[in-house]
Amino acid sequence: MASFGIAGAGFSGAVIARELAQAGHTCHVFDTRDHVGGNCFTERHANGVTVHRYGPHIFHTDNERVWAYINRFGEMMPYNHRVKTTVRDAVFSLPVNLHTINQVFDRTFSPAEAQAFVADLAEDIAEPADFEEQALSMVGREIYELFFEGYTRKQWGCSPTQLPASILKRLPLRFNYNDSYFNHPHQAIPKEGYTPIVAAILDHPAITVSLSTELSPVDRSSFDHVIWSGPLDAFFGFDVGRLGYRTLDFEQFEAEGDFQGTPVMNYGDPDVAYTRITEHKHFAPWEEHDATVCFREFSRTHEPDDIPYYPVRLVDDKDLLEQYESRASAEADVTFVGRLGTYRYLDMDVTIAEALEAADALVKRFAQ
Ligand code: UDP
Repeated sequence: MASFGIAGAGFSGAVIARELAQAGHTCHVFDTRDHVGGNCFTERHANGVTVHRYGPHIFHTDNERVWAYINRFGEMMPYNHRVKTTVRDAVFSLPVNLHTINQVFDRTFSPAEAQAFVADLAEDIAEPADFEEQALSMVGREIYELFFEGYTRKQWGCSPTQLPASILKRLPLRFNYNDSYFNHPHQAIPKEGYTPIVAAILDHPAITVSLSTELSPVDRSSFDHVIWSGPLDAFFGFDVGRLGYRTLDFEQFEAEGDFQGTPVMNYGDPDVAYTRITEHKHFAPWEEHDATVCFREFSRTHEPDDIPYYPVRLVDDKDLLEQYESRASAEADVTFVGRLGTYRYLDMDVTIAEALEAADALVKRFAQ
């Protein structure tokens, strides 16, 4: 039996703790916040609406192990995510689909016609090297400028030419009227929010949770092994510099009735300061509420005391990241996991899948 110190009570820390506890080990999970769930944390507002305090989280996956795993710990409700965008005083359907193309060009294209039309607009770039090239090679300049350029500059605070093409590859392009935001076969939101699910994962006699408590370097040495899901650079005391993150500010407001008629309205125009408005009761369409809670979402550069949300991974961050990565891999008694611990833009399902894999490896390594 080994003892594990785990920094972070989000999905990564919780899943690994549970797997290790079930294999007979003891786990002490620390979180500097006063709640479990990390950025997936949800809570009920006084008016009854479940609020995703750190921005909306929609669970989607094609990984059967992950889907079975999350369903063990709470009821998942079917939820099909749809997003609209407001640009130049008009509302369009996202992700870019046949409806969007017909709206933008004021046409009545069939799927084949739209495909040929967009192929004509698309620029001939053999190997797109950045976000902008990826967009131009997929949809051409007009659609890029309408939906992606302004939004992306606001979201990431830099030119899309400085961002990796992989960010855009998150979004589908469709030549039919399917406006589901994700392609995955399983899409759902927990009936009671994410917090009870993470709490249920952590609910095991061999797991101790200490909230509002840091896993300090001194504590670390008292465990056989440490799991670190905090920021990679924070583990090393930022001693060779800080990795770049974006943080988010949420301007919350309440109203009566239905504010925008949809869970997420993006704002692609560069002169609108926020990137999107999220209306949280629409993430729980199985509930009915007269009142509503919305967040206006602003993205900005992360300062030392802010919550890190998105790893930026600009070309300039590469050197620094490589230094921290090579030091992390030399730490034989520490496993780095999750979005912050590995400095990658991970969805929840990938986070859980990687946590399960990390736990499998540790169970093997510490088998009696
Ligand atoms: N994006 C955009 N316009 C939109 C929505 C997304 O340009 O209306 C870009 C933006 O750069 C964003 C990326 O596509 O960071 C991925 O979008 P996604 O919706 O996956 O972002 P998330 O919800 O994870 O912030």
